[in-house]
Amino acid sequence: MSKAKPTVLLEHYLKELKLPTFLREYRKIAEISQQDRSDYQTFLLRLVEREIQDRVTRARERRIKAAKFPLIKTLDSFDFKAQASISQPLVRELMRGEYIDQRENVLLIGNSGTGKTHLATALAFSACQQGRKVRFYSATGMVTTLLERREERQLERFNRQLERLELIVLDELGYIPFSKAGAELLFEVVSRAYERTSLIMTTNLPFESWTEILGSQRLTGALLDRLTHRIHLLEANGESYRLKESRKRARRNNHTTNTKGGKQ
Ligand code: ADP
Ligand code: MG
Repeated sequence: MSKAKPTVLLEHYLKELKLPTFLREYRKIAEISQQDRSDYQTFLLRLVEREIQDRVTRARERRIKAAKFPLIKTLDSFDFKAQASISQPLVRELMRGEYIDQRENVLLIGNSGTGKTHLATALAFSACQQGRKVRFYSATGMVTTLLERREERQLERFNRQLERLELIVLDELGYIPFSKAGAELLFEVVSRAYERTSLIMTTNLPFESWTEILGSQRLTGALLDRLTHRIHLLEANGESYRLKESRKRARRNNHTTNTKGGKQ
């Protein structure tokens, strides 16, 4: 029997068993285990541990990719001092994700540029890292998808896919009014998510104005009723961060120009 045969067979079986880390690492771990005179169990344990670690990492990466974040934002880069009305302790508590176990929702209300999308992304990203199934949609993107799926007679299938998620982000409700059909389909999503899937919604609109986007007062009432039954409210009523930053930049530039001007 040729010497190569056990190796070829082993590698074939490891592929068959879908143990890519075993396959990649077994020679190295065997060498290490030989050097430190570890027994067979320790050798096997080392390999199993690597395989599990890699599996956890791969699953996390898959979940983050599947969530389709437009941009990854985390809490590290969020300046709470710039947005005093946002409760830091509440945000930190929400980062732990217990609200998802309780099927509770989060609503971020505030003007444009106040960090609502940033915080929604940070919360959803943290949920992904905790092993939860998450999907990020812009509210208009969700409505467009719903209308398309209905057209393709795939609506029920799509709604069932949504039901398998643990957290759905609906970002930026309020900039574009929905058609009657669009608003009804969105209502169905919120309705089906009720007490089953957590929602994070962001909006620039106070509750009184939601009818402007959703059309019917009756439907808006019913949607808000479900959404707000178990809700954590984060209100950003400060200044736009973008605006403040660009003003700061402009001041700095002016200052530089003036100083340079003064020297000449
Ligand atoms: P909104 O969704 O409320 O319109 P965004 O979350 O899109 O606002 O914020 C606009 C930009 O400003 C983003 O690049 C975001 O990361 C940044 N930003 C907003 N608020 C803060 C903050 N408090 N600290 C750090 N960056 C912020
Ligand atoms: Mg936004």
